[in-house]
Amino acid sequence: MARTNPYRPFTPDPEQLALVPPVSGNDVNGLGETEKRRPTMVYWAPDPSSIPHGDLQRYFGGRASQNPAFLEKRAIRQKINDAPLPPVADAPVQRSPDDWTAALDGFVTRGDCEKLGVADMRPDWVFQDHEIEQSKVIVIGVQHEYDAIKAAPESRAGLEVISQYTRAAAASKKIAGWLHEQGWQAEAVTGPMTGALAMIPPALACGFGELGKHGSIINPELGASFRLSAVLTDAPFAPTPSQDHGIDGFCQNCRICEDACPPEALFQVKQTVRGDTKWYVDFDKCLPFFNETQGCAICIAVCPWSRPGIGPNLAAKLARKRERDAIG
Ligand code: SF4
Ligand code: SF4
Repeated sequence: MARTNPYRPFTPDPEQLALVPPVSGNDVNGLGETEKRRPTMVYWAPDPSSIPHGDLQRYFGGRASQNPAFLEKRAIRQKINDAPLPPVADAPVQRSPDDWTAALDGFVTRGDCEKLGVADMRPDWVFQDHEIEQSKVIVIGVQHEYDAIKAAPESRAGLEVISQYTRAAAASKKIAGWLHEQGWQAEAVTGPMTGALAMIPPALACGFGELGKHGSIINPELGASFRLSAVLTDAPFAPTPSQDHGIDGFCQNCRICEDACPPEALFQVKQTVRGDTKWYVDFDKCLPFFNETQGCAICIAVCPWSRPGIGPNLAAKLARKRERDAIG
């Protein structure tokens, strides 16, 4: 039997409810649409005035500003984002595509990030009314400290999220700066305001894992508990392959995040979104709780894949099951 959820029923702050726009965020996201189309920016807009939910984005910022620890961490992140990159060297270094991609490993071994992948850029990863000219996207993953994220939805978890966005931003700027020194143009894309790039699809394409029922990527080593940043470039990196560990099927038989989500924003089954069938978070239900807790993160904290040491064992079990099923 599911445990009683200590955060239900959730009643949003009336001040926040007064800011809800007439348009549904699920409609902006294309929930129920059967035709494929590029995503529309629904949140984390660089200019909140450009999106219907901009007042709610400002409300999030206003709530977080009441906590000096959030302000301090945000200032650190901003300083990293504002730091200039070194100039692009005159003579571009030449390497084979595989050597370019292998050269990224050093950023993981030196502890700048926990995971890296490269994807060939696709137009359907670019928000409507935006353009990306570069042909490659390097995706960067940084893992949360589990002890901090498991405190969700307390502010300790929200602070950890900002810390890891900051680390992800630093890694992105460092890789972009390295590419400039190698003679190649590069643009750092940092979260949560990723500008033109929808970050999850390229991460899925380049081996970060599979989309979980909670709408976040699950990776056997990192669980669901990590943040992303990216670098856009034309340097000729070889793409890294996608991963399939059977996590998608695992989610069909698990409902831990569904039961834990205070506003009941998670669906039991996949939804049709812009022509794809996939796990989807009800934006309109999630957002008020997310905003009032400065990032919530309950669903990624309770996901069994996020517990240290669990993911690789689960992936090995799923692989053995698949082998048995294949034999019959
Ligand atoms: S982040 Fe959203 S979907 Fe996840 S538990 Fe919180 S309210 Fe639910
Ligand atoms: S908690 Fe369970 S259902 Fe939810 S994403 Fe994790 S594995 Fe999937």
